[in-house]
Amino acid sequence: MSGNDYFIAVDFDGTCVTHEYPHMGIDIGAVPVLRELADNGCKLILHTMRSGSLLQRAEDWFRSNGIPLYAINENPTQKEWSSSPKIYADIYIDDSALGCPLKFRDGVKRPFADWEKIREQLVHDGVLDE
Ligand SMILES: [Mg+2]
Repeated sequence: MSGNDYFIAVDFDGTCVTHEYPHMGIDIGAVPVLRELADNGCKLILHTMRSGSLLQRAEDWFRSNGIPLYAINENPTQKEWSSSPKIYADIYIDDSALGCPLKFRDGVKRPFADWEKIREQLVHDGVLDE
């Protein structure tokens, strides 16, 4: 499996930015790794509980950071073989997922995704090159 075969579902709050829902969190180093994934042909699916204008703000975050989204809260390719609401992805990156590397920072109330370690894992798994 090469990088361009992967559907990657990415949570937003606590994963792309610190968790300050319904507000926007701050940068935690996700941007270069998400760009790298997209540049390698991975299809990024925003996988979030945000809706309405709060979802729009998350979409704007991706756009303003130059990260193309393949889809939002759905994988259009699964409709032909499943009516399940679970989003089909090869990899789910989510600060609430068991096993997601987390970072703690003074003054930030919830731990958030550790993108240095996530990148290491993606390299280890053959999704990204060293
Ligand atoms: Mg989250």
